[in-house]
Parts: sequence; structure tokens; C-alpha cells
Amino acid sequence: MKLRPVTKSQAEWAIRECSDHYAYRLKSGKNTCTDCGHTWNTDCKTDKCVCPHCGMKLDVKNTQERKISGKMCFNVLRMTGKYQTLRMFVIFAEMRKGKKAEYNIVEICQYWVAPNGQCEVIGLRRSMSFYVDCFAFGSGMEIRSNDEVFSFIARDFPMYPKVKIMSSLHIDVVGNKFFGISPAKCISRFLSLPQLETLMKNDTKDVFNYFLNNPTNCRYCWASYKVAKRHRYEFHDLGLWCDYIKMLKTCKKDVHNPHFICP
Ligand SMILES: [Zn+2]
Repeated sequence: MKLRPVTKSQAEWAIRECSDHYAYRLKSGKNTCTDCGHTWNTDCKTDKCVCPHCGMKLDVKNTQERKISGKMCFNVLRMTGKYQTLRMFVIFAEMRKGKKAEYNIVEICQYWVAPNGQCEVIGLRRSMSFYVDCFAFGSGMEIRSNDEVFSFIARDFPMYPKVKIMSSLHIDVVGNKFFGISPAKCISRFLSLPQLETLMKNDTKDVFNYFLNNPTNCRYCWASYKVAKRHRYEFHDLGLWCDYIKMLKTCKKDVHNPHFICP
């Protein structure tokens, strides 16, 4: 399935909200808006102002410089057919004094989450660099097994506010800020682990967070967890307890028996 390029309203939002906008100010009091190129005079000394021509909010730079370039990432979370998609873009800004700023938007990654929670990531190859947001822009979008950088970008960079979430998901993931993990990972976890919804309603935040971040243990120890909970067992270290349950299973002990699972 092919996705359409970034829409006009998404691009306008990204330019307005995700990229820095400056007014170059000279000692004489002459300001230049780097967004539209308009110049005007003022004697105020504030470090923020609004361009009287294009209305953009600007950070004032007292400088003789003539050119700035910058880049920033942003995310778009939508539905494509029955799939949840999370797309990531980089916006490049090129600002020259007296000229209209130029913006260029490039897609770097797509997450596809199926209704059963299965998740794939298609993205550009990373270039060898110290910076996390450097990509080989000619490399083409391919399935990537390691999505560490993408999930970092998805978690920490702005999201286009008009999001659309799969209707089968009953948890307000947006309102809960995706529980501090990458949006695609969060949605995929909730779809593939129905236990999380139960935990969220009936358990402590710590327990919920532990199982959200350790899905394998959640699946593996769930039955035992329910039995232990029914016997009012107090979990001091859930991670350690899960390891203990795995050990019991390896030793072929009955992991539904409170005698074993509530040490
Ligand atoms: Zn302007």
C-alpha cells in the first residue's frame, strides 16, 4: 500500500510549529523576518516579536548573519485502510535574509500496525553519524529490524495534532501521552496484549508499567499472576517474581499452585 505525500495542512502545521522562526535585528533597529523576507523598523528590545506582514511569531536574533538553516522531525499518526500508520518526516528550513524561507519535507519512516498488533517499520537507512537524526536520504524506504532511532524520534518529537486511532483500541493512548513509549509501540502493545487494559483498570501504575514494558513476561506469567493476585500475594519485585515463575516452569512445577507461586 502506498501512502500519499504529506498534506498541505500537515506541511503548514509543521512549518509553523516545528521549525524555528527568526527576526534578524540590527543595532539600528531594523528587523528582517526570515519567514517572508519583510523588513520593518522598531525600537523595542524584546527577544520575541510578531512579523507585521505574515503574522509569524519570531525569535529575535541580534546578528549580522544572512543565512540560517535548520531541521526538525515531526510525526503524523493516521489510519490507512485497516492499518494504523505512524509516519515520520524531517523538515529542512533554509532561511536567507530578505528572501522567503524555503522548506523541504522528507519522509524518513513509516510504522504499520495491523489490527492484531503486529508492527513493521519501513524506513531510510541511518548514515554513520554521531547524531541520531542523520539518514541516508538516497537509501530508499525498506523494512528495518532495528527501530531504536525511529522510536526515539516518534516519542520525543512533535505530533501533528489531528490524529486518528484504530477504533478497536479502547484506551485513550493520546490523552495518556502513549504512556511514555513510542506511539506505534504503545498501540501495538495494547492491540496484542488485552491484559494491559485489565491491568490499567484494576492494578497499580507500577504493575501496569512493568507489563507494558515487558510484554513477553506479561504473556508468559499472566495466568500465575492472576492466581497470586487472587491469593493477595504482595509483589515486591515483579521482574524478579517473573524470573522465578519462569524457573518454576523450567523445573516443571505447577505454576497455578499458590504454594509455589506465592513464596
Ligand atoms: Zn514575515
